[in-house]
Amino acid sequence: MTPEPFRITQAVFTELPVRGGSNWYFLELSNSDGVTGLAEFSYGESSITVSRAIAQMAEELQEEEIVSESDIPAMVGLTPGFLQSDRILATAITAIRNAVLDAQAQIAEVPLYRLLGGGMTASVELYGNINRSMLRDDSGDSDRSSASFAAVAERAVEEGFQNIKCAPFDECRAPFGGSGLPDETKAGLDRIAAVKLAIGDGVNLFVDCHSRFDLESALALEPELAARGVAWYEEPVSYRTHRNDLATIRNAATMDVAGAEDAYGLDIFQSLIKEGVTDVVMPDVKYCGGAGESVMIGNALEAISPGSVSMHSPSGPVSMLASAHATAAFKGTRPLEHAVWEVDWRATVLQPAEHIQDGRLLIPDRPGIGATLNQDLISDNGRRWSATQ
Ligand SMILES: [Mg+2]
Repeated sequence: MTPEPFRITQAVFTELPVRGGSNWYFLELSNSDGVTGLAEFSYGESSITVSRAIAQMAEELQEEEIVSESDIPAMVGLTPGFLQSDRILATAITAIRNAVLDAQAQIAEVPLYRLLGGGMTASVELYGNINRSMLRDDSGDSDRSSASFAAVAERAVEEGFQNIKCAPFDECRAPFGGSGLPDETKAGLDRIAAVKLAIGDGVNLFVDCHSRFDLESALALEPELAARGVAWYEEPVSYRTHRNDLATIRNAATMDVAGAEDAYGLDIFQSLIKEGVTDVVMPDVKYCGGAGESVMIGNALEAISPGSVSMHSPSGPVSMLASAHATAAFKGTRPLEHAVWEVDWRATVLQPAEHIQDGRLLIPDRPGIGATLNQDLISDNGRRWSATQ
């Protein structure tokens, strides 16, 4: 399906406080017919810097007819290799690409996954990431005990999630004193054991290590994770700074090794799978080039290594919905990430409200991503500004 050209006439930004000082950020790009495409660009402390980069690029693009959103980086003079090295610009360009795609699917009057080449899809399976439900809240409280991990994981299973992810190694940070398994892993391994006991053998447990280890400690940790029934070993070291070490860990591991949640562009994801650095790559729809790039990644890699693509999606409802369209379009066999219970009003950020049932995200049967921002909620709790102000 060839999309209609889109010309940007307006860029509007929204900031919405979530909890504990973190915010979600959204971009709306409109054309002169009043069609508005929506995207999320939440990127922690750097989000406002990203919004400035988006504003500058949107202004550059105002004279241009955008036919294919994949042409946008070249239209503003950026290459995939450069974007892989500059996460601010990668996030900015990705937001523009996603908003244009949403608008183009609305103009074509089809759900986004159809524009991206997918067949009819009503829902996408999710995995429950329990980390954000246990982060420090506005009062400064957090309970990182094994019992707390187990209780949240058990609730997720009760609500239908068949795959649970946690990041339990708070106490660890390489380099470690001594050799072999660091003592600092004990608390994390206890949390894993408690979660596994709570969820049972029929539910998969994914463990995210946030690049807290080095080669030796990661190799020593792997058998401990295997003994506790862990199914997925995420970024013991970073693919950016320790690529060869990650390949060595992946070769030694009996479980799937996953990573690359912050990468941009098909080439890097393709090289990680083809060179055996990871078993699974994790494109994030906010950073990787967007839903269109994710579908290119999924189509290319699922064909040579089924199950090698699982989308990273720990943020708000707009990025998760766009990720669900992409996963549906490339017929991903891995579940999509969802940060469960970060805030209890999350579903109402969108109209129609985000709908999760039995561990699946229901995709609205509407054009585009199928939802818009709830402007009442934004005007009560958030902040909106346009690129020109
Ligand atoms: Mg991760």
